[in-house]
Amino acid sequence: MADKVTKIGVLTSGGDSPGMNAAVRAVVRTGLYHNCEMFGILRGYSGMYEDEIIPMDGRSVANIIQRGGTILKTSRCKEFMTAEGRAIAYQNLQKRGINGLVVIGGDGSFKGAQIFSNEYDIPCIGLPGTIDKDIAGTDFTIGFDTAVNTAVEAIDKIRDTADAHDRLFIVEVMGRDAGYIALHSGIATGAENILIPESKTNIDDLVHTLTEKSKRKKLVNLIVVAEGDEYGGAEKVSQVIKEQMPTADVRVCILGHIQRGGAPTCLDRLIASRMGYSAVECLLNGTHNVMVGIVNNHMHYTPLDHAVKEKQTIDPEWLKIVKILAR
Ligand code: ADP
Repeated sequence: MADKVTKIGVLTSGGDSPGMNAAVRAVVRTGLYHNCEMFGILRGYSGMYEDEIIPMDGRSVANIIQRGGTILKTSRCKEFMTAEGRAIAYQNLQKRGINGLVVIGGDGSFKGAQIFSNEYDIPCIGLPGTIDKDIAGTDFTIGFDTAVNTAVEAIDKIRDTADAHDRLFIVEVMGRDAGYIALHSGIATGAENILIPESKTNIDDLVHTLTEKSKRKKLVNLIVVAEGDEYGGAEKVSQVIKEQMPTADVRVCILGHIQRGGAPTCLDRLIASRMGYSAVECLLNGTHNVMVGIVNNHMHYTPLDHAVKEKQTIDPEWLKIVKILAR
């Protein structure tokens, strides 16, 4: 049985997402409120392995709630994938007496946390920090709302120029395995088609629909594609459309990393603050090795081993909405 948690380390790991700073701030300040000693572990598990661990006081997290990125930095750490690497990381925590961890990241980071806490009996709490929103056990992930709003703002601008020239734009948004950014931003911008990894893309149907629309003199079309769509990204889709509709004026825009940056939205700051606070409460009240989520506006705790296995699933009704609204 782990000792009472008195010294807590916090790290951000894997892909960065806006709102991670707000979560770090909430973890540090809640821990200090409970008289815990707080530590920031730099560059995710790399800092644990390479012994880059710094004490954190209330001032060290001042003026960061509104900043994108992560002041703790993040990385992917291959050494932590090995038992030898994790043993070194454990020694570095032990040196300082750190006996509780908060890991802010995606499901890969949770896998690492789960393995580590099983091996060393150090309780770990996961906070879902990912723009992809593909983690089960929470309605929100830290960063998704900001990323999707960035995508919406960009797509609105693209629609203006598409409209001016009667063009077909294919916009690629992030989402290697998950189509949430594409689905949410596509519906919010009135996209005619949304292509996501979770549903099969029928390119012949797509070309047929576009051809029918052009006969009706609907010349402006916006297609939002998730980068991980099983058919291929925006370039591939555009290539096929150009071949089959030679007269169409087709353009591609890949939004890329702008979706990861920028000031977090109010929603992301709020959920990051609530989750960060709850993470420390969990460590102190003995609710160990869970991911903190929010479901129906209440805090929700999912065992880490479930959180790494389960994926959030797309509601098929959302896809129906896209079809009905795009006329
Ligand atoms: P994300 O957390 O965004 O999904 P990754 O999948 O890259 O990002 O995972 C982040 C880090 O978590 C990895 O670089 C590695 O250090 C650690 N990690 C991931 N999977 C495992 C695993 N099976 N065992 C140990 N550590 C892992």
